[in-house]
Amino acid sequence: MKDCLFCKIAAGEIPCTKVYEDEDTLAFRDIAPQAPVHVLVIPKKHVSGLSEARGESDKALAHLLRVAADVARKEGVEESGYRVVTNCGRDAQQSVPHLHLHVLGGRGLNGEMA
Ligand code: AMP
Repeated sequence: MKDCLFCKIAAGEIPCTKVYEDEDTLAFRDIAPQAPVHVLVIPKKHVSGLSEARGESDKALAHLLRVAADVARKEGVEESGYRVVTNCGRDAQQSVPHLHLHVLGGRGLNGEMA
């Protein structure tokens, strides 16, 4: 989608620090990490957020979760634990309107969210 930051990252028009990529999915480091491990997992296809993902297949949505878990393992936080968060809409302070999962770990996260 034109003018979408994460679409531009997925298209390689804006650089990112890539952690994982496949045909449908990209995982890259958050530019303002809230934890030692802070990776964003996105579908390459533009979907504004979780509420707009109704038209996506269960397989596509499950794949995002699987990639999040694979990233956590690859980043070495599977054993210590990690959090997967998606912010949806205004009250959640979603700042980038392209569906993304935050994968956070590497320190005790207490009650905070990304
Ligand atoms: P959210 O507030 O849940 O929409 O999360 C958006 C996330 O995108 C924030 O954690 C930002 O730090 C992150 N972010 C914004 N711009 C970039 C960028 N160019 N590269 C990587 N992460 C970014």
